[in-house]
Amino acid sequence: MTKKEVEKFIALVNGGSNYRAAAKEFGRHIDTVKRHVARHGYEMPKRLEVPDRVKPFEDQILNGSISQHQVAKNLGVSQCAVSNAYRELGYRAFPSGGRRSELKQSLAQEVVEYIQKHGGYVTPTIRKLGLNVSRFTVTDYAKRHGIDLTHYQFAYLEFGLWQTQPGPWKKCYTADYRIPCLCRGCGEIYQRQLVNLRGGYSRGCRNCVGKHRGSFSVICKETKEKFRSIRAWIKSIGRLKEYQAIRHNLQRDGFYIHSGTRYELINKSQPASAPA
Ligand SMILES: [Zn+2]
Repeated sequence: MTKKEVEKFIALVNGGSNYRAAAKEFGRHIDTVKRHVARHGYEMPKRLEVPDRVKPFEDQILNGSISQHQVAKNLGVSQCAVSNAYRELGYRAFPSGGRRSELKQSLAQEVVEYIQKHGGYVTPTIRKLGLNVSRFTVTDYAKRHGIDLTHYQFAYLEFGLWQTQPGPWKKCYTADYRIPCLCRGCGEIYQRQLVNLRGGYSRGCRNCVGKHRGSFSVICKETKEKFRSIRAWIKSIGRLKEYQAIRHNLQRDGFYIHSGTRYELINKSQPASAPA
């Protein structure tokens, strides 16, 4: 670790972070960090006691806008430790509805946040996370926070270049949906039908996959080896992961240099006599 990093670590701990969480910021084990702190001639910063670290949340705690679970998560300590700190600081442990309610709310929050990040439905998500909370508590929590969970039920699925986005989506025909989809080739968002995505009929927007399909081939200037498509060529040089970037450069420049070898684009839709 550099001296700067060590100083940042010390600042994090002085700001209320615990050792382990602060060390994690640098991708290090705390024992390693300790050695670096000493090496740069610093002393390990004193850990703040949990109540001192809870204190900055006082406003939110008293007005009930943050749960013990959330405070604990923020500080990287157990909810039990936070609960003890509440007692010491004289905060009422469970401002509204008692322990059960607060716990359920934090579980509901966890489910809602997961769905917002990964998409999906409420009940399967609860099951997947293995949480003891009802579907109703989750949907009620979402409603009270102005979140429409139905928008996420088809979100973040991947089909070729497409990645489905949170809704609103529209029902169409009997069992199909028009969903906003991000084309990861160009970053544009289009409305696409889920049935077509699932069937593999649409793998990206026209510009990125459709327009040039089959109309280009590539030739290696050295060996005169011909490739029937841009994709076939990129596959042969083992760089399919960079497909979009390489295709873009090849089409922009008309050629591409890979490992010192020049490859040129041939436009099959143009007559061979067209000026080079
Ligand atoms: Zn596109």
